[in-house]
This record gives sequence, C-alpha cells and structure tokens, in this order.
Amino acid sequence: MSEAIKGISKRYRRVILLFMFFTGLCSFGYEVLLERAVGILIGSSSVAMGLIISTFIMGYLSSFYFGKLADRTKSKRKLVTMLAMLECLICVALVLVIPITRYSLFIADYLSYFIFFYYLDYYYVLLITIGLIALIVPLLMGAEIPIAMKLMAWVDKEEGHDTYGDVGKISGKIFTVDSLGAGLGGLLTALFFIPFLGRTYTSLLLALTTLCAGMILLFTHQWYVRQMGLDPLPGNGKDKKANYLRRKRATAPYKIAVVILFVILLIVANISEIENRSIDRFYGGNVRFHMDSKYQEIVITEHEPEGVTLYLNGQLQISELDDAMYHEFLIHPALVTHPAPRKVLVIGGGDGGAVEEILKHDTVVEITFVELDIEVINVCKKYLKSINNNCFDDPRVDVKITDGRIFVRDYKGEKFDVVVGDLPDPDTEAVAMLYTTEFFGDVKNVLKEDGIFVLQSCSWFEYPKITMSVVETLHSVFSEVDLYLYNVWTYGPWSSAVGSSKLVPRSMSPKDIDAILEERTVTTEYYNGDTHNASFFMSKNPFLESARKDARISTIDRPILQNPWE
Ligand code: SAM
Repeated sequence: MSEAIKGISKRYRRVILLFMFFTGLCSFGYEVLLERAVGILIGSSSVAMGLIISTFIMGYLSSFYFGKLADRTKSKRKLVTMLAMLECLICVALVLVIPITRYSLFIADYLSYFIFFYYLDYYYVLLITIGLIALIVPLLMGAEIPIAMKLMAWVDKEEGHDTYGDVGKISGKIFTVDSLGAGLGGLLTALFFIPFLGRTYTSLLLALTTLCAGMILLFTHQWYVRQMGLDPLPGNGKDKKANYLRRKRATAPYKIAVVILFVILLIVANISEIENRSIDRFYGGNVRFHMDSKYQEIVITEHEPEGVTLYLNGQLQISELDDAMYHEFLIHPALVTHPAPRKVLVIGGGDGGAVEEILKHDTVVEITFVELDIEVINVCKKYLKSINNNCFDDPRVDVKITDGRIFVRDYKGEKFDVVVGDLPDPDTEAVAMLYTTEFFGDVKNVLKEDGIFVLQSCSWFEYPKITMSVVETLHSVFSEVDLYLYNVWTYGPWSSAVGSSKLVPRSMSPKDIDAILEERTVTTEYYNGDTHNASFFMSKNPFLESARKDARISTIDRPILQNPWE
C-alpha cells in the first residue's frame, strides 16, 4: 500500500477520533448542565444526579439499534450523512431540552390525569416526565459510537487491514477518546462554562461544538472519498440521467447541512427569547433579572403584593413584603437576649436584610458578613435596596466572600457575641452541611461563652420533621436550645431556632425587651416584647411534639434533607 493512501487514511481516522472526543465532551458537559437545571426544578441535587445519570445510561442503549442499522447500511456516504444529520438533531436538542424541562411541572400535571400515572405520587410523575424529556439527548448520542466505529472499520478495510481482527483496537481507541472528551467536558462545564457563560450560552456552545464536529466529519469524509478515488466525480459518466442523480446524491449532505445550519441559526437568534419565556413561565411572569452564578440560579421577579422577590435555585428567599417580618424575627430575639452584642457574625443572608436589622442595635460595632456568592450581593445591591438599605457599605460591615463552613472551621480571631445563620433551606446536600452537628460545633467554637447562635429553621408547618431535626441537632451541641414561631406573609408559618451555653431568650420579659429596644434605638414593625413571648409560647404545640419523634440529629455523614415533594 502506498504511503499516500496511508497518510489519507490516517488523517481521516484522526478526524473520526477527534469527532468522538468532542461528542464525549459535549455529552458529559450537557449531563452536568441538565443535572443542575433538574436540581433546581425538583429541589434535590442528589435525586437530579441519579435521575440524569440513569437517563443518560439508559439513553445510550439506543446504540444497540443504531449499531444494527450501521451494519445494514451499505453506503458509507449514507452512514456519514446519517452521523452528520444526527449531530444536527443533537445540536437542536441541546438548545431546547433544558428550556423544555422547565415546563415539566405543567406537563406532569397533565400526565397525572392519565390512567397510567393516576395512582402514582405526583413526585414520581414529575421525575418520569423529566426523565422522558432528558432521554432525547442520550438517545441521539447513543448512535454516535457504533456509526463512528463502523466508519473506522471501513477505513481500516480500505487500507487492507483485517477489520474483524482489529475490532478490539478500534473500539478501544473510540472509547478512550470519547471518555477523555467526556471527562474534560464535565470538568470544563462545571468549573468554567457555567460560571462564565451561564447555562443558556453553555448549552449553545455545546450545541455548536456538536454541530461543527458533525460537519467537519462530513466534509472530511467527502475529501477522503475523493482522495481515495472511491467515488468518481459527478458528471464523469456517459449516461446523462445517471450523472444527474450522482451529482444530486453527492451534494445532498451539503444541502441538508446548510438547511439545518439555517434552522440552528434561527434558534440561536431566538435563544434568549426561548430561555426567557421558559423562565418566565416557571416563575409566573415578571422576571426582571436572571443569571447563573458559579453556585446557583439567581432570579428577581416583581409581583403584587410581594414586590421585588429574590429566588435562588427556584426557591423563594425573600420578598419586599416579607422583609420586615422575616428579618425582625430572625435577628432581634437573639440580639435583645444578649446583654451587649458587640461583634456579630452573619453566615449567608446575601440580600442584606439580616445585616440591616443587626445594624439597628447601636451596641454593635462589627459585623462579619460571610456570603458564598458575590453575585447575590451584587444583584441585591441593585434590586433589593429597599431590603438592605445599602448596608454593605456601612463601615461596621466587613463582607467576606467565602463558604461559611470553611470560615467558621478556620476562624482564629476574637470570638463573636452572636452568630446568625440566614441560609437557604437544607434542600441540597451543600446547604444541608450547614445544618449539621459538625457545623454547629464549629459555630460554638467561634462564639464567646455567653454568646448566642440563631438560624432560620424552615417552615415548621410544611416540614415539621426538618424543623425539629434542627432543634435536635442544636441540642447535640448547645445546652440551651429553643424554637420560636412566627408568620411570614409569603412563606407562611415559619420558625427560627436558638442555641447557647448560657442565654435563654424565652426567659426575657416583654417589659425588658421593649426597654432594650428603646434603649438601643431599635425601631421595628412587628417585633416587640409581646410578639417575642408569643412566638416562643407557640412553639410548644402538639404538632411539633409529634414531629419530634421522627426528628434526628443531622450529621455530615447523614445530613437531614428537605424534600419539597414529601
Ligand atoms: N431568607 C432565606 C431563606 O429563608 O431561605 C435565606 C436568604 S439568603 C439570600 C441565603 C444566602 O445564603 C444566599 O445568598 C446564599 O448564597 C448563601 N449561602 C448558601 N450557602 C452558603 C455557604 N455555604 N456559606 C455562606 N453563604 C451561603
């Protein structure tokens, strides 16, 4: 065999391998993207991970069917065109599947009425709906491997190799580059693409990469066929009709590619519109801002009567309407109980409402404000000034952008009088770590002997088991633990829990509380001595006593996780 033929085959083989590398990269990148989007939808990152990984693995089973199809297809041109077309379809799917999954809540609603799903819990209908939508991508991707292998085998055969004998080598090479691409794709997407491009443009990038990979393979195939003299140039024969048909066949893949590219460009032009519409629908309209930060999806909406509202990963965090009620009751019970709160640590609370309430106590000289996500602060500075009153710029406030867990674990400075946990509900493993006995133990270490810790402990009415688990976990660390209940307009019945080695907020008299508020010039809308006492009094109720039986201590090894569908 001539060196020239060897060179041509080598080039073509390299392009096939490169193609597999990029398709692997795109498939795992998309898996990461989908996991994140589904986690936001269903509120549990581990269920999202399990669902998407299983869906992708099941979807790849389609390679069984496509393998047989590839064997049956005698024309290599058809095979390569099939692959290029497949990439075009994958490209469209990569752009559309995530916005479509946002509609799964509504689709699942309809599906629940079908006899087949009627007896299933809504949660499982939702998971099935999401799984079915997500399945589109791996079903298409599953076809790539057998077709690429078939092409490699064909090139080997043209070179004069014994294809049967080389099957191991071919499959080994294909799987190796595919896995390398997949590994890189997963990492790049999680570490760089999502944080810097956001979810929408990451899916677009992966889609266009897929499309380019398919097109490059298609054009390389045409080049290979011409170089190897396997396909006479159209128009060389004598029969006019045959010439015409050959020319049509030869140019068909290009024409199809151009049409599909055109469709893709239309989609690309409308991508923000598609994304906006699906987000708008999910949040009930009036989305004023949305972005994907390194850690979470941040959304700002504006509705009546809630006013401007912040959502993180699809979960309501705070609205203008709730601000006074939620933050006054989170902050003042602990602060008035402390005889002279000077140095306060706030973990979370990126909207700034908690810090704003603490600053009302004129005894406070220093607030260390530890927030994981700078973007939440930036967004709230712009949209939620009415809640934070630009407290970030107060000279007493020292903002630290870091993980609260790491901050308290490594903290060596002067201890705090009060620590506040204004964190999202423990509905993901990452946040649940900040509700564990290990974390509470670290908080105790950064508190002075007569210090006090307070944290929001979720809706006691919707998740009594979670609220009581927070209480039980606090008991594993602090000797004085208590729970108090209040109402937040849009969240409904809410709770916070306190832990201390010395201080007992329940023992404060209404008269003393009112006097302290007056002395420290603290003005409030809802919080005062009477409402303080009422909220502690209400926490001794039969509903919560019964939930205590199922509550347990949350640990890093076995964190308590709030499941919104339970
Ligand atoms: N009021 C809210 C609620 O009821 O769910 C909590 C609001 S506040 C906006 C929650 C903040 O905690 C978010 O800004 C989030 O970025 C932050 N956060 C989450 N995990 C954190 C961590 N490990 N360390 C510090 N801040 C964290």
